[in-house]
Amino acid sequence: MSKGTVFIISGPSGSGKDTIMSALFQRHPEIKLSISSITREMRVGEVEGEKYHFISREEFEEQLKNDEFLEHNLFVDNYYGTPKKPVIDCVESGKDIILEIDVNGAAQVREKLPEAVSIFIMPPSYEELRRRLIGRGTDALEVIEKRLASSLGEIGRAFEYDYIVKNDIVDRCVDDIIHIIISHRLSCENQKNLIDEVLNKC
Ligand code: 5GP
Repeated sequence: MSKGTVFIISGPSGSGKDTIMSALFQRHPEIKLSISSITREMRVGEVEGEKYHFISREEFEEQLKNDEFLEHNLFVDNYYGTPKKPVIDCVESGKDIILEIDVNGAAQVREKLPEAVSIFIMPPSYEELRRRLIGRGTDALEVIEKRLASSLGEIGRAFEYDYIVKNDIVDRCVDDIIHIIISHRLSCENQKNLIDEVLNKC
């Protein structure tokens, strides 16, 4: 059995990642999502264990000390981290998994898993990004300004990614991401089993 692939998806706060992700998982429910552990307050509408595990700073630091994270980052005063074991188990069982993480986390994962495939979701413009962050109404203005500043830094690092997908039309953006995932699955590297399978039946 061939291993699954780790797909990293990043994009600044307000780039529309959540909408894209839910459309993606609806169309490809076989792909797993890595559930990050984070220390920020739960927002209205968020559910424990759906996208995030909401843990205390002390718990996070304890897990960090025990080397339980594949990567982690401090983002706008809160810790965000990818628990290592579920990712490794998923890939070993032949399933693909998506890590929806920021640029710093992505760089750490590339170091540890160079075979991971990374995709950056680009907002159509800075103005649109600002409009979306304010419109979503989940954060205080001061936090929005911090998130916008961080977004500019993230966009400047988009060249570190294997692919950049612009999110101007959600459906097209999801199609583009699915094409990347499918073409990766069809790559020669991932089809070695198929060659053996056909040859063994000769
Ligand atoms: P939010 O607070 O808006 O849910 O997420 C803020 C940022 O943290 C987003 O850019 C998101 O991609 C990133 N993020 C979410 N989970 C993780 C994680 O486990 N590790 C890292 N490095 N970033 C994460």
